[in-house]
Amino acid sequence: MSQLTSYDPATGAAVGAVDVTPAEQVPAAVARARKAAPAWAALGIAGRAALLRPLAAAIGARTDELARLLTREMGKPVRDAAGEIKSVADGIEHELGEIEAALAPETLDDGRTVSTIYRDPLGVCAAITPWTFPFAMPHWMVFPALVAGNTVVLKPSEETPLIAQAYADLVRALVPDGVLEVVHGADDQGKALVAADVDLIAFTGSRAVGKLIMAAAAGGLKRIILELGGKDPLLVLDSADVDKAAAFAARNSFRNAGQVCVSTERIYVARGLADRFVSKLSTEAAKMTVGNGLDESTRVGPLVSARQRDHVLRQVADAVAHGATVVRGGEHDGLFVQPTVLTGVTPEMGIAQEETFGPVACVTVVDSDAEAVALANASRYGLGAVVFGADDAHTAEVARSLNAGMIGVNQGVYGARGTPWVGARESGFSFHSSRDGHRNFTQTRVVSRPKS
Ligand code: NAD
Repeated sequence: MSQLTSYDPATGAAVGAVDVTPAEQVPAAVARARKAAPAWAALGIAGRAALLRPLAAAIGARTDELARLLTREMGKPVRDAAGEIKSVADGIEHELGEIEAALAPETLDDGRTVSTIYRDPLGVCAAITPWTFPFAMPHWMVFPALVAGNTVVLKPSEETPLIAQAYADLVRALVPDGVLEVVHGADDQGKALVAADVDLIAFTGSRAVGKLIMAAAAGGLKRIILELGGKDPLLVLDSADVDKAAAFAARNSFRNAGQVCVSTERIYVARGLADRFVSKLSTEAAKMTVGNGLDESTRVGPLVSARQRDHVLRQVADAVAHGATVVRGGEHDGLFVQPTVLTGVTPEMGIAQEETFGPVACVTVVDSDAEAVALANASRYGLGAVVFGADDAHTAEVARSLNAGMIGVNQGVYGARGTPWVGARESGFSFHSSRDGHRNFTQTRVVSRPKS
């Protein structure tokens, strides 16, 4: 069996390896999950929750070790890696309660008919995940699917197989054989899994692959959940607190070296604030130490791969060739790219249209809020959007006119506990998290009888 080696993007050293699952063996993994499905479903939600509840403590006991592995595999600062792992462990109890409430049968009675709505397991769920949040993403797909009574076959990113396997091992220690299967590899294994006998495909990743999966799933009318890429705008209105807006822009453009689906990728700033905004953003960028994520002082780690770095540098060079200015950054050393501030970005440039996924803040000056909204909405993507402005009705109205799934006002897009993680337009199709998200892992069935 061939091996998939995971490399540390900061040093190039091998971190470890897993066995690649030959694509022709993927159906066998699905068959094992299929065999385990009836008994897992028969446990009922309370039985499954009881088995899975100890996952929180199991993860919590190993947070530091898991965080270091995560950082070594994909580069993010170890403090952020620990935060990712802790957020999974801390959320489990709440998620269990939320899923149980979301899936509890409901009875409707209109005086003539009594109907009960059930939310049953679908069967076998495929979970295909990216490397950006390589511990949290598998959890976001695997956990609600399992609690809902499905069995799961996980195919994690080929960039981060070790941390995903570590997550799966913790789950597998708590559940019967076959309930969670893992297949390792890249697109061939992903394609084989989509083509196999699965009932639902829960995918987080790029828009391009999302489209391939949607097309491949059509033949069997398989259910799909697609959480795809973004090109999130930040609007800085005339009335904004410019220092706060610039500090937010720096955080949200450069966090995880810009490799976050809801990174700020486009900034539309009111002309009157522009100079001050760019100056403050550049100052904040300069404060962010770039280095190995294992160093406590690092705020920005390496990009995950040479392919990703080359894509980012190509976009920046193309923007400069078309008239943009590098105000700060632009340099790189190996996979480390300095936080970069670009001004004079225009809508025709590739960097204003396609996902960058790197530490680049792209600034466009606008003359009105209407222009900012029109430019923000002129995108195929629609994952998140953020607006900074006075705490008033006008800012609220601007926020409501943005065509995105998640909109932040004077903050990032992360909502209160229990809100969905949802994209609009080509950023998503169906979604997970929240009461409504959990229901996407089930088959709704309605049983009706005459009212006696
Ligand atoms: P990717 O689409 O290249 O790969 C994602 C997964 O799909 C990997 O496991 C990969 O092996 C697999 N895959 C590749 N080709 C496949 C195919 N033809 N059929 C089935 N599976 C296939 O994405 P990536 O580079 O790992 O992650 C970055 C992307 O993920 C960005 O676009 C980012 O915005 C997006 N993302 C979105 C969210 C969200 O919540 N919306 C969250 C994180 C990342």
